[in-house]
Amino acid sequence: MISLRLLGCNGGIGGKDRQTTSYLLQESTIIDAGTGLTILDLPELAAIDHVVLTHAHMDHIACLPLLIDSVTAQRESPVQVWTLPEVIDILSTHIFNEKVWPDFRKIPSPDSPFMTLNAISQRTAIGGMFFTPLSARHGIPACGYLVENEGVALAFSGDTEDCPSFWEAMKQSSTLKAVVVECSYPSALTNIAQVSMHMDVPSIVARVAELPKEITVVIVHRKPGLEDAIEAELRMQLPSRDLIFPKPGDVLSFG
Ligand SMILES: [Zn+2]
Ligand SMILES: [Zn+2]
Repeated sequence: MISLRLLGCNGGIGGKDRQTTSYLLQESTIIDAGTGLTILDLPELAAIDHVVLTHAHMDHIACLPLLIDSVTAQRESPVQVWTLPEVIDILSTHIFNEKVWPDFRKIPSPDSPFMTLNAISQRTAIGGMFFTPLSARHGIPACGYLVENEGVALAFSGDTEDCPSFWEAMKQSSTLKAVVVECSYPSALTNIAQVSMHMDVPSIVARVAELPKEITVVIVHRKPGLEDAIEAELRMQLPSRDLIFPKPGDVLSFG
């Protein structure tokens, strides 16, 4: 069984119903650390042992520095951050650089820090589940993840333009129950989707049509103000699919 609480699943902010990407899996592991983290109270934040990042864009890491700092008095072990080696380099250079934010890998001491940054490049056990990086194309180091637990698998696209090898991986998993995929723009804005390297309605329609019908498709990362247009287009063009358009705080369970 995998329980998925969508803390933030929007492509931007604007009122309490728009929070950027952060997903709580089971009790203590999150994918990405966007503003969705702000809907958790302090004990829930302190229970987060693992943060698995898709990439270093601000909407996916905005609350990571604040999370680490906020739970220091509540925790006795470091928060373990997992991501691609190239993303670790970006975070080290641009965020945890003693200028924008302290380097919590050395505080209070390198032997017993508040945070660790761990490279993930293949199937790895994290928080009682298995995480495998999946291909993404977003113009910077980025990935999606296949998450497996007890014979159930969920796929997360992260931010990406249409990426053939991601969808190829979907066909390889025999236990796949759901794909959580970004769709940032409606059909009228395919040009913006292309320059910003995001998915849009036409690319989702083409890819989802190839997926087995029993796989649930969870649409995330809709850009603010475009949510209704994206949902209307996808429901019209994929009428027989199980499509979910979540709001921050929604809980889904697969198993
Ligand atoms: Zn991004
Ligand atoms: Zn994003």
